[in-house]
Amino acid sequence: MSDPKPPTAEAARGEPPTKFDFFKTIQAYLDEASDAVGLEPYIRTILSQPKNEIIVNFPVRMDDGTVRLFKGYRVQHSNIIGPFKGGIRYHEDVTLDDCKALAALMTWKCALMRLPYGGGKGGVKCNPRQLSKAELQRVTRRFFFSLGNNIGPDFDIPAPDVGTNSQTMAWAMDTYANTVGHINKQGVKGVVTGKPVASGGTLGREKATGQGVVHCLTEWAQEKGFNLEGATMIVQGFGNVGSHTATILSRLGVSTIAVGDHTGYLLNPEGFNPHKLQDYVATHGSIAGYPNGRVISRDEFFATKADIFVPAALENQIGVKEARALDVKVVAEGANGPTHPAGEKILLDRGIDIIPDVLANAGGVTVSYFEWVQNKRSESWTLEEVDEKLETAMRRAYHDVVNMARAKRLPLRIAAYAVALNRIQAVYRERDIFP
Ligand code: GLU
Repeated sequence: MSDPKPPTAEAARGEPPTKFDFFKTIQAYLDEASDAVGLEPYIRTILSQPKNEIIVNFPVRMDDGTVRLFKGYRVQHSNIIGPFKGGIRYHEDVTLDDCKALAALMTWKCALMRLPYGGGKGGVKCNPRQLSKAELQRVTRRFFFSLGNNIGPDFDIPAPDVGTNSQTMAWAMDTYANTVGHINKQGVKGVVTGKPVASGGTLGREKATGQGVVHCLTEWAQEKGFNLEGATMIVQGFGNVGSHTATILSRLGVSTIAVGDHTGYLLNPEGFNPHKLQDYVATHGSIAGYPNGRVISRDEFFATKADIFVPAALENQIGVKEARALDVKVVAEGANGPTHPAGEKILLDRGIDIIPDVLANAGGVTVSYFEWVQNKRSESWTLEEVDEKLETAMRRAYHDVVNMARAKRLPLRIAAYAVALNRIQAVYRERDIFP
């Protein structure tokens, strides 16, 4: 009834990943940052587990008439600051534990960005590349229907993530709107963000995560006295985050000389035209077969000398081997959790800076917040307004993290957690716990 299990990205590239327990890793960072800011033990205890873990199994009729059962998750980590917020990913390797880790990251990310949100994350275990558009629509509608009142515009607000996009969010919003009754239908657009602009999305959301990565890199460059004009970068993943990071950086004079995705890796020492590559991926679904580059191995990719590395694919990509091989000055984490703790240690020992995920890729959720505010107020902001507000928010967060790192002598990741935890702690101290 179900398709044979497709090869995972790791299997496709022929090597086992470094053993990685995503949730335990995030918990260890939480412990380290808690010690650094003297977090009260009861708050650490509360934050060490998500508030709710929802699992649904739902049937979907496939194009060939058979019925397939899908497993979906929604983990709601914290809503002490505001509604749960975070993406929905469609990937064959999605697990509850990964959603728990990713949901916690959203709590830190939103607190760091001063957004009135907590953290959540979900997903459906499936390979979206093997589903037709009609099947994807039915999967999405049935999944969101199954979530029912576990989401809501003032309770839990999903958004795109790996394997989902604005189309997914349009179906999700429409499904939710059809469950609330005629009278409320127009008022629930904000139940998801990252929608297409015509369906209540905002200008600037599509490129927002990449734009935020670039703001971090420009701040980093300024701080280090590094000239981005003429610099080089390598990028892993050429989906929404990787491709927009590359196109926006190209306007600042940074050339992308190596790129990879789930199908393999390409090198072009002269620099790729990121717009052309973006168009190619839009039509072909991946970078495979792109003519203006030489196919290289994953090992060659990681050893390519460049100034910047942007991992913008999945978690656990920079293990010990990759961290030893990387020949860059800075790693800006477009993906969530791309660096294994053992890899991180090596990078830091080698003097390679890491702009951590909760800061580097926070542009996406920040513009999601702008979309949600526009939905609430029935407004449409100009691209300039969105861009300007995002830039202000990213620069402020970058400096909050750097200042914390300096004051407490912490690596940037722990400093980012520390800034977030201080804000969460302030709220717990005021509100205390119920009853
Ligand atoms: N999935 C994105 C993230 O990991 C965006 C979440 C959102 O916009 O809510 O930050």
